[in-house]
Amino acid sequence: MTAVTDVLTDFELYIDGRFTGSSTGTTYESEDPYACRSWARIADATTEDVDRAVDAAQAALSGEWGRMPGRERARLLLRLADIVERDARALAEVETRDNGKPFRDANAQVAYVADWLRYFAGYADKIEGRAFQEAHPNFHVYSIRQPIGVVAAILPWNAPLILLAFKLAPALAAGCTFVAKPSEFTPASTLAFAACVDEAGFPPGVFNVVAGRSREVGAHLVAHPGVDKVAFTGSTHTGVAVAQAALGHVAAVTLELGGKSPQIIFADADLDQATNGVVAGAFAASGQFCTAGSRVLVHRDLYDEFAARLISRAEQVRIGNPSEPTTDIGPISTAPQFARVAEILSSAVGAGARLSPRGGLAPDVGRYFVRPTVLTGVTSSMAVMKEEVFGPVVGLLPFDTEEEAVTLANDTQYGLAAGVWTRDVRRAHRCAARLAAGTVWVNAYRTNAPGVPFGGMKASGLGRENGQEALDSYLETKSVWIEIADESRDPFRIG
Ligand code: NAD
Repeated sequence: MTAVTDVLTDFELYIDGRFTGSSTGTTYESEDPYACRSWARIADATTEDVDRAVDAAQAALSGEWGRMPGRERARLLLRLADIVERDARALAEVETRDNGKPFRDANAQVAYVADWLRYFAGYADKIEGRAFQEAHPNFHVYSIRQPIGVVAAILPWNAPLILLAFKLAPALAAGCTFVAKPSEFTPASTLAFAACVDEAGFPPGVFNVVAGRSREVGAHLVAHPGVDKVAFTGSTHTGVAVAQAALGHVAAVTLELGGKSPQIIFADADLDQATNGVVAGAFAASGQFCTAGSRVLVHRDLYDEFAARLISRAEQVRIGNPSEPTTDIGPISTAPQFARVAEILSSAVGAGARLSPRGGLAPDVGRYFVRPTVLTGVTSSMAVMKEEVFGPVVGLLPFDTEEEAVTLANDTQYGLAAGVWTRDVRRAHRCAARLAAGTVWVNAYRTNAPGVPFGGMKASGLGRENGQEALDSYLETKSVWIEIADESRDPFRIG
């Protein structure tokens, strides 16, 4: 594992195929949330750097990249996947230092990046239009599909590389060019990834990274008239502002936003598996993922037994140094996020919720640590059951009937994911159809794959990432009408 030292690691911006400082030469420091001190020095992009990146991305579209056949784009994506795989350990170490994500999880996420690149490489030479044989007897009509253009990707701090891959892999397969703006809290892994792109041999300007401490960097990028599509992952509040800015210049938008996902434990569930699934859904990554299943609805007949099992399992979770391979959960990734988790826990307790005996903040482990926490005695109206916590905190609510469970599950502004734990296959399908969520897991939680569409309903987002839907979202359809009848038409009559 990387040793913790006082020497800061430097990361530069990546613009037009070159690593570069910011236009003003300024830098800022990124904190290691486990060591609670700066570990990296980041070139601090300005709006001028954003302009340079967008210009480079536009130039690449009309240069070699824009003319490159799909099979060549596929070869570059496959080469990049091999390099990412070779460097996986180093990339995961950067992610762990910058974000506090346990190395085990970070390593698995970097492996996913290679999977995503390979999956979408397969699409790059299979982009097809249609022929509209019956459109008009006098015309040969067909459509072609072209890259939407320059993509701006705005990324959050909780899973920088895999969320980058969700956007980058389909965008490059489609032939777009790309400007990534990582979170100000976790810029390092995206900048480290740029070295892999550089080595793979993509033409300059195809992939660019602008990292900056000021939120003005992202705001300038999404409002830039040279950007044709904004792919955003982050909070609902910021997503709405980003979508408004993008629509201001009529850019396409995909939004992957927050969630408050339910997990329903029916009376016939396998309790060992359900407990394990709730641990995965609520405590993995310290609960800092958008699909966190943090509202657990438990059939009243097994509420007490399930609560006891979950609390006992939560107490076995190993919390500590994220670089240790045996660590299950590390710190909360950022100081503001830690403050938010602390505040929401204290407001829940103030409103009458009961904390599991060994739950709550863990200052004995480190400044930003929270122990896996099970809340009982909660109500649907408490903030902890309505708002995204983004911490290892789960609330349990009892229910009596399937109807009540589905109603409670859907009683949220969000609609990102849901879990159903039952042995009854008919009930599983009924619930999957009725739950208002973009993903429903049955007897499982927290899995995904590059070919399976992912995204949210209601306030959880717009559009889908992954799968054919993702590829489509990076393509424009153009219809071409070719007159084949050798006759002139009445110019004053449509048709
Ligand atoms: P955030 O919304 O605060 O920031 C996200 C990104 O937007 C950051 O890079 C930030 O610098 C940038 N940004 C901020 N203001 C901007 C503006 N005006 N214009 C352009 N960019 C701007 O979110 P966060 O705190 O980084 O991440 C946590 C949130 O993200 C949680 O709410 C979580 O649910 C959500 N999230 C959703 C998914 C998903 O796939 N649905 C995945 C991960 C995280």
